[in-house]
This record gives sequence, C-alpha cells and structure tokens, in this order.
Amino acid sequence: MPAQSVNSLFIDGQWRGASDGSTREIRSPHDSSLVTKVSEATAQDASDAIAAARASFDSGLFSSWSWAQRSALVARIADLLERDAEKIAMLESGDTGKRVIEADYDLADVISVFRYYAGLGLSEHDRVVHVGDERIDSRVVSEPVGVCALIGPWNYPLLQASWKVAPALIAGCSFILKPSELTPSSAIALMKVMDEAGTPKGVANLVLGAGAVVGAPLTSDKRVDLVSFTGGLATGKAIMATASQTVKKVALELGGKNPNIIFADADLEAAIDNAVTAVFLHSGQVCSAGTRLLVERSIHDHVVESIAARANAIRMGGPADLTAETGPLISQAHLGKVSLYVEKALAEGAQLLAGGKRSTHESLAKGWYFEPTVLDNCRTSMSCVQDESFGPVLTVETFDSEAEAIALGNDTIYGLAGAVWTSDSDKAARVAKALRHGTIWINDFGPYKAQAEWGGFKASGIGRELGPSGLHEYLEIKHIWTNTSPARSGWFEDSLERESK
Ligand code: NAP
Repeated sequence: MPAQSVNSLFIDGQWRGASDGSTREIRSPHDSSLVTKVSEATAQDASDAIAAARASFDSGLFSSWSWAQRSALVARIADLLERDAEKIAMLESGDTGKRVIEADYDLADVISVFRYYAGLGLSEHDRVVHVGDERIDSRVVSEPVGVCALIGPWNYPLLQASWKVAPALIAGCSFILKPSELTPSSAIALMKVMDEAGTPKGVANLVLGAGAVVGAPLTSDKRVDLVSFTGGLATGKAIMATASQTVKKVALELGGKNPNIIFADADLEAAIDNAVTAVFLHSGQVCSAGTRLLVERSIHDHVVESIAARANAIRMGGPADLTAETGPLISQAHLGKVSLYVEKALAEGAQLLAGGKRSTHESLAKGWYFEPTVLDNCRTSMSCVQDESFGPVLTVETFDSEAEAIALGNDTIYGLAGAVWTSDSDKAARVAKALRHGTIWINDFGPYKAQAEWGGFKASGIGRELGPSGLHEYLEIKHIWTNTSPARSGWFEDSLERESK
C-alpha cells in the first residue's frame, strides 16, 4: 500500500487536510500505479495560508532575526536534507518517474543551494553612502520583500523550490509554496525538514492542488508582495497580468528553445555526445534542454547521423530500472502534446531520422514513454523550431557562417540558454557575446552552479535565480538618512521673523 499523506497541507505551523476534505491520487508516470494520496487544497486553504504568512511576517518575529540566525537555520535545513536525501530522492523519483540516480543528483544540488545561501547570508548586506558631510549617516539597507508566493513546475520539483525557498528564508520573508499538482511529495518532505529545523510558525506554508484553484489566488491576493514562478510561458503571462492588478513584484523563470551550435572545427566526439545528453536527458523535460541543433553544413551528415544512431540506442525505463538511461514523460496529457508537436513538424516538412512516436516496448506500455526523436531539415520559421515541446525532440538546422549561426541562435522569442562548440576561442567568445540567452556554455552543455545566476532573456523570464541576484529578488532596498546634528533648512523665510524685521 503506498504511503498516504492526507493531512499534507502545512499552514501556520500545522499539518491539516483540505477544508472540504478533498484528496488527490498521485500516479506513477512509469506504470500509472498509485504512488501516494495527498490533500487537494481549496481556494479557502490558499487564503488561510496567505493569512498565516502575512501574520507571521507582520509580527516581525522572523524578519527581526539577525542574518546570522537565518543563515544558521538554512544551514540546519541543508543538514537535515542531507540526512534524509535518499528518502526524499525516492519520493521525487516516484512522482516524476525519473530514475532514482537522477533524483539523487537533484538532491545533492538542492543541498548545495541551501548551503550556498546559508553562506551568502553571512556577507555584508547594507551599504554606507559617503555624502561628504560628517553630520550625515546615510545607509542603504536590505529588508525582506514580505509575503511570497512560490510556484513551481513538475520537472525538477524540489530543485526549483530550493532556488526560491532558500533565498526567501535568508531574506527573512514568509512564504506559501505551491508545487505542481503532479509532484507534491518532495515539497511535503521539505516542509517537515524546515519545521524540524526550527522555522518559526507561519513562515513556511504549503498548499497542494491545481494551479487554477490554489495557484491563481496566490497571484491575485493583495496580501502577497511577490510571486516567484517557474513554469510555462502561457502561465507566466497570466500570472504577470494578474499580479499587475496589485502591483506585486514578479520573478519569472519560463521556457527555453535553446540553440546548441556546432562548428566544423569543434571536438566532434565531445560535441555529439553532449548534444545527445543535452536534448534527451530526463526525456527532454528540462527548461535548458538543447532542443535546437545548429550544425555547420560541412559536418551536418556526420553529426546528425551519429546523433540519430545514438538516439535509437537510448534505453528507457522506470525509476528502479538500473539499466535505463532516461524515463517517461510526466503524464498522458504531456505525451499527447509531444506526439502532436512531432506530427505537426512532419506536416511542415521536417524529416524524421529517429523516434517520432510513443514507445511500443512491452515493458513500457503502461507508462508515458516517448521515443528519443530527431527531426532534420528544419527551418527557423517552423513551429517545431519556435515552440517548446518539453519532450525528447531534437530539431536540426544547418548554417554556413558564424554570422548565420548567431542569427539563427537568436531567432527565437526565448533566451534561456545556449551552447557553442568550436576549437577557436576567439570565435567562441564572439558567439557567446552575441547570443541573447541567460547562460552560454562553451564546449560544454548543461552545468550550472548555485553561485552563478540563472535566468532568461526575452520571453524566458524576468529576474534571476541563484547567485547573489537570486537573493536580491527577495529583498527590498531602503535608504535611511540620519542627520546627527539637526538644523533648520533655511529654505523658506520664517514668516514671523519676516514680520519682526
Ligand atoms: P506550468 O503548467 O506553467 O505550471 C507551473 C506551475 O504553475 C504549476 O505549479 C501549476 O500548477 C501552476 N499554475 C498553473 N496555472 C496557474 C495559474 N493560473 N496561477 C498560478 N499558478 C498556476 O508549467 P509546468 O508544465 O509545470 O512546467 C514546465 C514548464 O516550466 C516548461 O515550460 C519549462 O521550460 C519551465 N521551466 C523553466 C525553468 C527555468 O529555470 N526557466 C525551470 C523548470 C521548468 P499545476 O501544475 O498544479 O496546475
């Protein structure tokens, strides 16, 4: 019998069920088996969570902790996550269908994010402004932004939550976390850890449920000061529009259509191998996946044939399959979306070199497995090049010059990430500078670090997560001017003095 977590909303320091008693079954993307059952929050529950966060923030209790105290809390959370890492990775793997080994990597990254922000909390946050007048003490101070709605996606549930939760805590904010309705388990585990670590009541709240029911109220409620959202472009636009009604701050991490550019002078063995990982890791359900291959014409046939052969050989399987290299898509609905995307690409003239359909393998029949797919002869105008499939689908375009590679790489509404492969370091530097994407890898694909900012140009988002900027999202800046020797301004003549003259 799978674990049940029916009192799985965490509001004002208490575990409780939904106000109307609703629950939701979480089913495995691998075989549709029941993974767990969790509470399904109502709009009333979302409102209660906002009230708890608001009251805790307005009490000033947590925000008046010193930076060092909050750093110690976040470090304790990192320690407890490390203690429970194996267990939480299993939960994450169960909900997402990803292999346990991938979830293990994710947990290690989550812990490093908490540790990084625990360290950053200890650095200097205030600034003295030298105004050239010894009577004046002018200081710029950082204060918590207030109550935050933290809304995340299903592909890296805990990792994306950690990018928000850790800096929000360091800043002294109170928050409501809403993970995807499909992947709630690791967020429940995180709340338990935060509670055990000594997070004050009402600071960290968790609501589970559908975006339209419990996510939307978090973005419209005037008691919320900031919405930090990671997810799709359409949802991001809707959230921005809603949040504008109460002039909330918004931080958006949206989709990507990321160019992976291979020049003829690159180390082709490394470039080909990384191109396969870039697009097929986690079955392409990665915002920064290298889904757009741009390849120099003279090496096109070799590169594309090699990638297609590698795609055909990829082993798919569920969380417990130790021989599997990648897993299922998250849901039947998503499988349908990816299938339609490929059908449309073929109708537009793309040439199918590998995959292109749901896996027919007997052992995968109950899950949402889509074959690693390579589409050649693509043009920038085609919708498969412009739209995010969020599945294991590579589109291939060909270029003849550096200028054309840059133009193609920038010909997208998105601007999240991109890579350039070449042995010419000057060319690499020129292309990296010219590409309008938030992360550029040179002769590599995919690494990121908690210390380095992550985020998108253009429609890939607003703001940055990770790095110092990831903390700044959760801070308000205030200038405090103190005159230590108050005196009359003397600007307007005093009327009484005028009369007495
Ligand atoms: P999504 O459908 O936009 O959902 C994201 C979150 O928003 C979920 O928790 C969802 O709830 C919630 N939501 C839906 N409608 C809402 C509304 N009207 N108001 C408030 N919240 C609402 O995205 P997804 O399918 O989960 O994730 C895939 C997308 O995330 C891709 O586009 C990917 O590129 C992007 N992503 C970006 C990054 C990055 O760093 N830039 C990282 C990871 C993923 P429910 O799911 O419960 O309905």
